[in-house]
Amino acid sequence: MHGGPETSAHERTDQTSPHERTDLVRATETDVDREASERPASYPERAPQVGRLPRGRPPGRRRVRNGPIRAPTVLDVGGEPSVAGTPISPRGDLFAMTIRETVMRTPLVDGHAHPVEPLSGGTVREGFAQYFTEGELATRDARNTLNYRAALGVLAERFDAGPDDERTLLERRASVDLPSYTRECIAETGTERILADDGFPDLSPAEFREYTDAEVHPLLRLEPLIEELLDEHRAFDEFEAAFENRIEEALDGEHVALKTIAAYRRGLDVGAPDRADARAAFEAVRADWNGRIEHPTLLDYLLHRALGIAGERGAPVQFHTGFGDPDAHPRYVDPTLLVECIEAHPETPIVLLHAGYPSVGEAGYLTATYPNVHLDASLAIPFAAHGAERVLSTALELAPTTKLCYGSDAFSTPELYVLAARRFREALAAVLERLVGSGIVTGSYAEAAAENVLRENAIRLYDL
Ligand SMILES: [Zn+2]
Repeated sequence: MHGGPETSAHERTDQTSPHERTDLVRATETDVDREASERPASYPERAPQVGRLPRGRPPGRRRVRNGPIRAPTVLDVGGEPSVAGTPISPRGDLFAMTIRETVMRTPLVDGHAHPVEPLSGGTVREGFAQYFTEGELATRDARNTLNYRAALGVLAERFDAGPDDERTLLERRASVDLPSYTRECIAETGTERILADDGFPDLSPAEFREYTDAEVHPLLRLEPLIEELLDEHRAFDEFEAAFENRIEEALDGEHVALKTIAAYRRGLDVGAPDRADARAAFEAVRADWNGRIEHPTLLDYLLHRALGIAGERGAPVQFHTGFGDPDAHPRYVDPTLLVECIEAHPETPIVLLHAGYPSVGEAGYLTATYPNVHLDASLAIPFAAHGAERVLSTALELAPTTKLCYGSDAFSTPELYVLAARRFREALAAVLERLVGSGIVTGSYAEAAAENVLRENAIRLYDL
C-alpha cells in the first residue's frame, strides 16, 4: 500500500483481504457479439496532419466497429518506400537530434493521474519510500526499489544534498509548501492537461487545481460511486436509476471518462449477468452491506451499464490492468481477460491502463486487434524504472502509434509526476531513434508519432 499509516492504498478503499476470492461467481454466459472480429473499413488514403485536426468530436466517432474509424493524425511524409513497401529514412542519423527535441518539448497530456495529498512530516521522514512501490514492503525493501532511488535523485536536485543523503533530503522535503512545490514539479514536466481520478486520494480534482497550472479534467471512478449509492438506496430500481443518472450527469458535465478498478475488486474476467441476477445480487449485498463493493455479479452488471452509457457519448472507460497494490490478484489482472467485455461494447473506447504490465505484449495485441481499445503506459512508467524503454518498445510492436497515450498515474507525491514524465520522454526518444536507425520508420514519422503519443492521441480520444 502507498505510504504510511495516514494513507490508504492507491486504489484501495478499505482493508478487506484481497485474496478472499473463493466466493467469486464466474459468469458462464456472455452476450458477446462475435462480429467484433470483423475487419473495419480501411483508413482514408491521406491522414490529416498533426495540429490541423478540427476541434470537437470527429464524425464517425461512434462507428467504431465498421469504420471508417477516426483518421490517424500521423504525418504522412512519404519517404522512399523500400522494395518491401516499408518506408525507409533517407536521413536517419540527421533526424535523431530532432526526434529527441520533439519528444522533449511536446506538451504532455497526462491521460491518467491522481491529485497529490498533504503528508505529515513523520510520514515523509519515515514512510516516503512506500509511495514509490505498489507493494506493502518492509521499509528497508521499499527504500531499495529503483523507482525510489530515482525519486531521491529528484529530491537531490531540489534540496541541495546528495541523492544518497536520504535523511537530509526527507527532512527538507517534509517542510515544503505543498501547493507551490507541486506547481513547480508539474511545471517542470511540461504537462498541459491532467486527467485526474476522483477516487483517490481524498483531495478532489477540483481542489487539485490549486496545486497546478495544468488544466485538470476529472475522471469518474465507478466503485466509490457504487458504494455511495449502496449507502443511500435500499431498492434496486432506485439504486440502478441513480447510478445511471450520476454517470450521465458526470459525462455530460466536466468528467471526460470513467475509470474502473474492477481488477482490484473481482478481477478482469467480467461476466454478463442479466438484470434479475443483478437484482438478487443487490439484495444480497444490501443485506450484509459492509461499505465495500466486491460482489462480481452486481459489479459486472453495473459495469456493462456504465460501458453502454459511455459508448452512447463516445466517452472512454479506463480499466486498471496489470500490476497494482496487493488488493489486485495477479492472476486476474491480465488485460486479455477483458476480451468479452471489449467485444460487447464496440462503441465504447476502452483504455487499458498501466500497459497491462507485465502483460505489455498482450495489451499491445488487444490494442492492435480491437478498434475500440487504446493503451496507456502510466504507472508501468515510472515504476518499471529502466524497463520503461522495453515497455514502450513492446507495446509498439503491434499497437499503432495513434493508440498509445502518455499517462503518469502519479498520486499523492508530486515527484511521481516528474519521474513519469522524464522516464517516458527518455524511453520514447530512445525507442523512436532506434526505429529510425533500423529503417522501420522515417525521422519525420517518428516526430509525428512522438507528438501523437505524448499529446494528440489523448486530445482526440478524450475529446479535450
Ligand atoms: Zn491510477
